[in-house]
Amino acid sequence: MFGVVPKTLWSQRTPADVDNRILLGLNALVVRLHSARTGSALVVIETGLGNKLTPRQRQIHANHELLPQSLAAAGIRPEDVTHVLNTHLHFDHCGWNTRRDEHGRIVPTFPNARYFVHRGEVEHGHKQLDRDRVSYISDNYDPLVASGQMTLIEDSHADIVPGISCEVFPGHTAQLMAVHIESARQHACYISDLIPTSAHLDPAWVMGYDLFPLTSIEQRHRFYQRAIPGKWLALFTHDHHHPMGRVVLNEKGKPELQPVV
Ligand SMILES: [Zn+2]
Repeated sequence: MFGVVPKTLWSQRTPADVDNRILLGLNALVVRLHSARTGSALVVIETGLGNKLTPRQRQIHANHELLPQSLAAAGIRPEDVTHVLNTHLHFDHCGWNTRRDEHGRIVPTFPNARYFVHRGEVEHGHKQLDRDRVSYISDNYDPLVASGQMTLIEDSHADIVPGISCEVFPGHTAQLMAVHIESARQHACYISDLIPTSAHLDPAWVMGYDLFPLTSIEQRHRFYQRAIPGKWLALFTHDHHHPMGRVVLNEKGKPELQPVV
């Protein structure tokens, strides 16, 4: 998760267990929109690991398959969800797009939703490259593309519903999309794996998973140039302790988190 950063440095922020694992969240975000003018929508951003992993994968990732219970706890039924956004198609971001039902069939978890992802992610997944084919599990997206339930975004910006839009921030993958949420002149941004946790705020602390690490560094600077003066709420996909906060510059000029929860 910390690429070339020495463990002596990153373990001060994120301690590892005896198996050298660290605690990570799989933070999905739900946005409810109510507007007399534009109607209402229930948007789910990211869908975690899902229930289609092998027993071995489930053990490695300590997968608890919590998303359906978490949504139910918030009073949300899968059929109520109108939009599902995937920032990219790594298996830990789109696993609950589909689920294995009681007959072993792969079915959409959110039957009435329109799903969105960048076309480049689907195309990259289909290449099954040595570098990252383990991250692309086609059951998470191919059935939705085939049925027409998944819309493939072509451009670097896309408006999803009023107040919610996607923007490509490359580096982790070529077409990773951040999600902007704007309401009552407040701006939140789900920055996904460009900055997976608040321990990754240093621009150079990029992940070993990143396909284009120099681009990640450059794009983090681009994010801070807007997020810091704009006082954006930054939402972190893998931060268990601080899923959201505002980024500020400390006395050394380094980005630092002001946690919100
Ligand atoms: Zn990823």
